[in-house]
Amino acid sequence: MRKGECSASGHLEEKTKVIEQKEGQLNAFLHLDFEGARKKAGEIDEKIRKKKKLGKLAGLVIAIKDNICVEGMPCTAASKMLENYVAPYNATVVEKILQEDGIIIGKTNLDEFACGSDCTKSAFKISRNPVDTERVTGGSSGGSAVAVASGMADLALGSDTGGSIRCPASFCGVVGFKPTYGLVSRYGLLDLAMSFDQIGPFSKDTYGAALLMEVISGEDPRDSVTKGTKDRDYTRLLDKTKKKLKIGIAKEFFEGCDKEVEKVVKEIIEKLGERHEILEVPLPISRYSVPIYFLNVFAEFSSAMQKYDGLKYGAFWEELNLVDAVSEVRDRTLGKEVKRRILLGTYITMKEFKDAWYTKTLKARDLMRKEFDNAFKKVDLLASPTNPSLPWKIGEKNEDPVQMYLADTLTTTANICGIPAGVVKAAFCGKLPVGVQFMGRIGEDEKVLAAMKSVEELAGRDMDDEHNNRS
Ligand code: GLN
Repeated sequence: MRKGECSASGHLEEKTKVIEQKEGQLNAFLHLDFEGARKKAGEIDEKIRKKKKLGKLAGLVIAIKDNICVEGMPCTAASKMLENYVAPYNATVVEKILQEDGIIIGKTNLDEFACGSDCTKSAFKISRNPVDTERVTGGSSGGSAVAVASGMADLALGSDTGGSIRCPASFCGVVGFKPTYGLVSRYGLLDLAMSFDQIGPFSKDTYGAALLMEVISGEDPRDSVTKGTKDRDYTRLLDKTKKKLKIGIAKEFFEGCDKEVEKVVKEIIEKLGERHEILEVPLPISRYSVPIYFLNVFAEFSSAMQKYDGLKYGAFWEELNLVDAVSEVRDRTLGKEVKRRILLGTYITMKEFKDAWYTKTLKARDLMRKEFDNAFKKVDLLASPTNPSLPWKIGEKNEDPVQMYLADTLTTTANICGIPAGVVKAAFCGKLPVGVQFMGRIGEDEKVLAAMKSVEELAGRDMDDEHNNRS
């Protein structure tokens, strides 16, 4: 664009064509704003004509998960509770993207209030995996992963409370990154569980994720947990790839893993050994990630959801009796999984039961953090599969919620500990992509990105050829 070889408007039109072709089948979006996007593209082209300075994201088409506020666009969190809500302000991350000349194309589908692992729990539509449309995209940020994987957007934002960026990135074969807790402002994100939530990027390659990280991270007075965060040049720091890193693997990561996933992830880790040092580390407490994560999340989520009371926030009910109004509006507008979490979260934080459940799970969270801290005294990074299984068929895990929760066993640890974690395509099983996950020390996000780049360099080219031959 800077050289005048293509224009922002021209690039945007290419993307809108892809959307027109593919969206009907894939269901990535809940809202599209071609008009607003064209206006922004026109402004960027004008800047180019006038030789004005361009932002870092100039002309890139970006999709935003529908639980992050974009001024003037609906923000539904894929829930009937917020069906008619239009965001009156921009999330900090959105403000930063616009300042750097990114073009926002629309809002993407998710599991209702980000509660889920396969993007089939949206109140409005089921997103489909572009690699095999009978299969799930992974969740909850499934729509964002699909938008990038299918070429409808260059980049996308998701939120990750227990794996919602990394799981769909792995299932759809793209890059997904969950930053260190507090590195990216959550102002304007509809929270699921405040002490776990992070916003992060989706992209085709690690460079794209690093670029978006450079733009969205940093201190924000409107989100106090970002305090003290330093701005960093993540794209430049990718060159750390050349440095030898100590990468740990734990046998616990492979327990309960499908054999085919285990095989391809171990193969890629072995290949990494050509450049980095691979060490075994024991992480026995990581086995308990699912109960620790879900009990904490239920408690925080039930508290976060109190504001949707049918009176001040969320859908409104014409009912005089207060108690009936609150229960009616929740009964009619919230889905089963959301209700389950509100009830369980309320139960485990009740005075009578708190010590047996909530207090205990807080202690367990602490133990897990200590275990990971100790591991990071020996290694720079940990490597694991992202998901224990391949993307399942749509509807396959609808009956038993625990089966769905177990899919998060390898991703929730990073949110429990607040550490950065990223996923990059490692290989294919048949035609289905498999992502390898790296976790790093708090604040060492660039090392995680560097390891992801190593995978692209070591395995990337063979894989693309293989994929092209298959399709
Ligand atoms: N699948 C996890 C859950 O259902 C994580 C969701 C998320 O990261 N938003 O809670």
